[in-house]
Amino acid sequence: MTAPLTIAIDGPSGSGKSSVARAVAQRLGVGYLDTGAMYRALAWWCLAQGIDLEDRLAVAEAAAGYPLELSTDPEHVTVSVGGTDVTRAIREADVTAAVTAVATNRDVRPVLQEAQRRLMAQTAERTGGVVAEGRDITTVVAPDARVRVLLTASEEARLRRRSTELHGSADAAAVEATRDQVVRRDRADSTVSAFTEAAEGVVLVDTSDLDLDESIEAVLDVVATATESER
Ligand code: C5P
Repeated sequence: MTAPLTIAIDGPSGSGKSSVARAVAQRLGVGYLDTGAMYRALAWWCLAQGIDLEDRLAVAEAAAGYPLELSTDPEHVTVSVGGTDVTRAIREADVTAAVTAVATNRDVRPVLQEAQRRLMAQTAERTGGVVAEGRDITTVVAPDARVRVLLTASEEARLRRRSTELHGSADAAAVEATRDQVVRRDRADSTVSAFTEAAEGVVLVDTSDLDLDESIEAVLDVVATATESER
């Protein structure tokens, strides 16, 4: 029997990792785990429950028990907490601003990382594989994944993409309005996870000059090369 096809993808905001990871999972017929959604859903839950985000232990306690339901089907990605569908709400500016405090809480990370390992194993068992994406999947959550990719893009390309997503345009004003979100969040995130340089054995894919389809093909090529070289 062959081992499950576990694929870990990390990258900064705007590298294209969510769209690429999801499409790769669809193409390979395996599950998809968006670990950022777990941090975002926890931030949403803390805001909803009135938990002080600066209270490290209270947030860590919430991480251990928040009622998260996260689908791992790449065709239907939904996130619910305590029966409330938060799929869209967790992408809003208030949650995006709050998520950094949750993700840089060192008492929270091991709790979510363990939950992510469990979800990866369950999903891989059910579908034959899993594509998990985030900031620390190649290095901490699943350093033993069969394929590990770091998706990067120039700051300019990342700002342009996020700006188009958030404001529908990449003109100078929209890019400036996006800058803080992207640059500040990545800077804070990189204090707790190493995702700006590829760790040993991790393949770097630069998407600065690639569109979405080309980025998906580039990652599928890495998967094909990695799995062929195992033979
Ligand atoms: O990828 P996304 O932008 O949805 O992630 C939201 C936030 O969750 C990131 O800015 C980061 O703070 C946190 N995160 C993390 N580790 C991961 C995935 C996301 O710290 N593996």
